[in-house]
Amino acid sequence: MKIYENGYIYEQDVNQLYCKNCGRFLPDRFVTGVCPSCGYQRARGDQCEACGKVLDPLDLLEPRCSICGEKPVVESSRHWFFDLPQFSDRLRTWLTTSTTLSEKVRNFSLSWIREGLKPRAVTRDNLWGIPAPFPGAGNKTIYVWFEAVLGYPSATVEWAEKKGEPELWREFWLSPDTKSAYFIGKDNIPFHTVILPALLLATHEPYILPYIVSATEYLTFEGKKFSKSLGVGIWLDQAIAMLEADVWRYYLVKIRPETGDTNFSYDGLMAVVNSDLNNDLGNFIHRVLTFINNNFDAKIPEATHLTEEDKAMLAAIEKTFTEVDNLLSEAREKQALETVIQLAREGNVYFNRREPWRLVKTRKDEAATVLHVAAQVLKALALLLAPFTPATTHRILEMIGQGEEAVTWLGEKPWHLPAGASIAKPIPLFEKLTEDKLKAIRAGASSAY
Ligand SMILES: [Zn+2]
Ligand SMILES: [Zn+2]
Repeated sequence: MKIYENGYIYEQDVNQLYCKNCGRFLPDRFVTGVCPSCGYQRARGDQCEACGKVLDPLDLLEPRCSICGEKPVVESSRHWFFDLPQFSDRLRTWLTTSTTLSEKVRNFSLSWIREGLKPRAVTRDNLWGIPAPFPGAGNKTIYVWFEAVLGYPSATVEWAEKKGEPELWREFWLSPDTKSAYFIGKDNIPFHTVILPALLLATHEPYILPYIVSATEYLTFEGKKFSKSLGVGIWLDQAIAMLEADVWRYYLVKIRPETGDTNFSYDGLMAVVNSDLNNDLGNFIHRVLTFINNNFDAKIPEATHLTEEDKAMLAAIEKTFTEVDNLLSEAREKQALETVIQLAREGNVYFNRREPWRLVKTRKDEAATVLHVAAQVLKALALLLAPFTPATTHRILEMIGQGEEAVTWLGEKPWHLPAGASIAKPIPLFEKLTEDKLKAIRAGASSAY
């Protein structure tokens, strides 16, 4: 209503598609036809899935009612419109001056504005939905695009109310210090870089605009488009019944389509579980803890003299934290995860080169130093993995006698593990994925449809 009171909503009679057979005006999504932009045969009235162009149902060539397949007719109806073009300049300025939006997101959005923004209908002739509050709007309802993105602030208001601090939402939405990040698919870019910012600006209140819009490309499933009706994909509850959530989390971030389309494959899943999780991470942790258990009474040994190699390993921890922190600040999760696992690989290389199993026989203090350093790497890995595989983080921390409170990236060297700390008997972190197990997962996934 603030947007209405500020004068950005006006009434106009418009032509709309009406299906005589169904006896109703057709919402955008209930019309299919040929995309006027790319020629895709099954474009929907609101957007073409093939080229991403946002459409009006009247733009479609050869329109059809999605319910009955009849050709709809054009009829007039009164609607309330949001004056989106009024915000073109301000949006362009924001988009071009933002230092945190990616090139892809910026260019896509600017080209949308360059093509000319159009007023958008806020109301529709639909029986269900939020009743339109505008005077004279009768039994019209609010269009989904108008209320869906405003659902973000609404959800925060609801959260604050439930928390018993009803004003708390303002800290997030009206404070210039807030950095908001949106994780979306690329077809949702204009709704987050044009529509949402325009609606927020139209309130005349100092709402913060998106800081990061992390728009991924598409993910396919074994080379095919995900489809509920065709049974392409895995149900979430099925997935976590077959493999622990952390394994899915790890693989899905590993193949996150950040810069180009990617593909989920069972073979890829198996390769990543066996190489990254088992070999690089699991083995490193197991070797270090077993060695401390067998040779140092299950206590983190002391580092008496650090060689250049030891110092380099410790420096790598610090460097990894800085890099991962920066990457996550830019919502580059995939690269961040790759940087974390690289530290586990470096840990393995370090362990192999320092050969503590040889040192322990002749120079036990030097072996102690190596294990002290390796234990620092181990705790660092636990902390670095927390945003990606939280259950694994807890399992690692448990083995080195650390609780929930250890999970922080703040303070001076949060990965530091003091000498003398007791460790538990190591248990393997992950199981290798075998061909048989993979077969069972495949079968389970397809039987769930
Ligand atoms: Zn198209
Ligand atoms: Zn129809």
